[in-house]
Amino acid sequence: MPTISPDAPIDLHSHTTASDGSDAPEALVQLASERGLAAIAVTDHDTVGGVAEALDAGATYGVEVIPGVEISAAPPDDVDDRDGVLHILGYLVDPENPALGEALGWMRDMRRERNPEIIKKLNALGVNVTLADAQRYAQGGQVGRPHIAQAVVAAGGAADVQDAFNRYLRTGGPAAVEKAKLPADRSIAVIRAAGGVAVMAHPYQAKLGDGEELEHLVEELVALGLGGIECWYSRHKPEQTARYRELADRFGLVATGGSDYHGTTKPNIALGLTPPVPHAVVDALRARCLV
Ligand code: AMP
Ligand code: ZN
Ligand code: FE
Ligand code: FE
Repeated sequence: MPTISPDAPIDLHSHTTASDGSDAPEALVQLASERGLAAIAVTDHDTVGGVAEALDAGATYGVEVIPGVEISAAPPDDVDDRDGVLHILGYLVDPENPALGEALGWMRDMRRERNPEIIKKLNALGVNVTLADAQRYAQGGQVGRPHIAQAVVAAGGAADVQDAFNRYLRTGGPAAVEKAKLPADRSIAVIRAAGGVAVMAHPYQAKLGDGEELEHLVEELVALGLGGIECWYSRHKPEQTARYRELADRFGLVATGGSDYHGTTKPNIALGLTPPVPHAVVDALRARCLV
């Protein structure tokens, strides 16, 4: 087993075949080891289905695996969410926790209702795809829009995945069906009930800007038990990272960071960030679990 320095970089945001990443959990951990990462968090959308395999692989490859999840949350009622998304990362959660399992199970049930509706809309638009086509791209994990997009491309309905989103699947697009979201208070509560720390992911995606509106949302989430904010991210500009670190300081949050690696699903995002996220972030998250 290779020895990796605890000072080595980490990546706290990644997806596997359990959701819409292209790498199986073991392959992801192997890649992390090849990239010299000391720790990696597996944060699949609305499932902890990849965590057990990743933990086993972590022992094999000498990579510290942080059990995680990324929940699509509905913001508190007074927040104007426009087209924005609120994703809440849960770190160091017990993947076996029943409350977390129930909440994530509900989200998967909602997805199972939504996918056939998307397919139906595509069919009505003349795109001949089936749910079974999309399932093949999901490699046994839960089916989401990126898999349906791949099926659309294979059916000749779009030039590539991005084109499939632009034409049909983007939010507000002709084949869009809204995804069920777990209320923010419940998202944070189940993460904490499972022993974890709740962290606001990629804050700019809330589309509230980086000023007062965002600050107001963060303040509300803090009141609900938020423990961290994602400051380093593959799409953050240095000014954004600085701003989110300022918010972390102001509200006493752990400043976290990760790439949002998805493998070939999002080929422009590499595993690991430059400059690297320091391992001290993991220690801060662990300390936060104990309060
Ligand atoms: P779902 O969870 O099924 O709604 O799928 C969400 C995923 O679809 C996101 O993680 C993105 O990877 C992808 N996605 C959403 N909107 C777009 C878009 N406009 N262009 C490309 N990919 C998108
Ligand atoms: Zn994704
Ligand atoms: Fe996200
Ligand atoms: Fe993500």
